[in-house]
Amino acid sequence: MSTQQIQVKLLRYKCIGCSYCVSLAPEIFSISVSDGKITFLFENAFDDDTIDAFFDSSIEPIAQQTENICPTGAIKCIMHKR
Ligand code: SF4
Repeated sequence: MSTQQIQVKLLRYKCIGCSYCVSLAPEIFSISVSDGKITFLFENAFDDDTIDAFFDSSIEPIAQQTENICPTGAIKCIMHKR
């Protein structure tokens, strides 16, 4: 049986810290206390240029919405079959 996961890539060097994504999906994203840019909720002091993580495909709709709402293209969602 194949399952799907979603890979969420954060191109942090593009982020302007507007928080639109955090407002939409506070259960996934956070603004880093280190540099004021997007990170994942579980990495709240991250400060490198990029970060990515895999999630259950159930978050795809909200993740896609954040990709669409981001004004700088800093969020990329990629579906993977396993
Ligand atoms: S919506 Fe985009 S620019 Fe705004 S905080 Fe999120 S990733 Fe950064």
